[in-house]
Amino acid sequence: MRIDIISCVPRLLEGPLSHSILKRAQDKGLLEVHVHDLRDYAENKHRHIDDYPFGGGPGMVMMVEPIARCIRALQAERSYDEVIYLSPDGETFRQPLANQLSLLNNLILLAGHYKGVDQRVRDLFITREISIGDYVLSGGELPALVLVDALGRLIPGVLGDEGSALLDAFQDNLLDAPVYTRPADFEGHTVPDVLLSGHQRNIEDWRDQSALDKTRRLRPDLLQE
Ligand code: SAM
Repeated sequence: MRIDIISCVPRLLEGPLSHSILKRAQDKGLLEVHVHDLRDYAENKHRHIDDYPFGGGPGMVMMVEPIARCIRALQAERSYDEVIYLSPDGETFRQPLANQLSLLNNLILLAGHYKGVDQRVRDLFITREISIGDYVLSGGELPALVLVDALGRLIPGVLGDEGSALLDAFQDNLLDAPVYTRPADFEGHTVPDVLLSGHQRNIEDWRDQSALDKTRRLRPDLLQE
């Protein structure tokens, strides 16, 4: 999978992309992430990518031309399955959407700033708008990274244990069962006996029941879906 991220603050993306699982996925050639500095597509000498809103009011708006130039340059090189704008008023990002997007080959993610992008960007170039939740962040870089991480870990071969992404919370509308590791007794707080029994069938039953109990307690809405 190839993901191109368009940002006017590309350095915000550096750390998360160069460590841990996302780095390993790129090193293994399973995931390619390319970051594009929107200012490289500005034609004015100050590399401005924003301007005052027509009609007045506070805040700046990201201009259509630099974004259009950047997206067109990418689309001239290859075809993209989706051109996604990260936006608080987009469709809420949830696990089924992550699963669906992880099957695609080429994605563009556009990170906004200020008051957001000129509406014509959304009308002309964007195929999908995604929100990571009902709150407003100052830029789309963190939401873009949320998508890259959620999608990247679903690509076969990225996680060490092939099966583990499918056992995570929200797959099958269930939260994950509690997990424990050594020591078996921490200051008198012990691990459930069944996990030490070596009886795999009983362990699976305990995990299924615990996941169901936890979901009923913390997220009963998931069981209605
Ligand atoms: N005026 C915009 C509004 O109310 O919808 C908010 C703009 S926000 C300050 C700047 C940028 O951050 C947005 O263009 C978007 O790319 C990103 N952003 C902020 N919150 C987000 C969220 N919950 N999900 C996805 N992107 C978000």
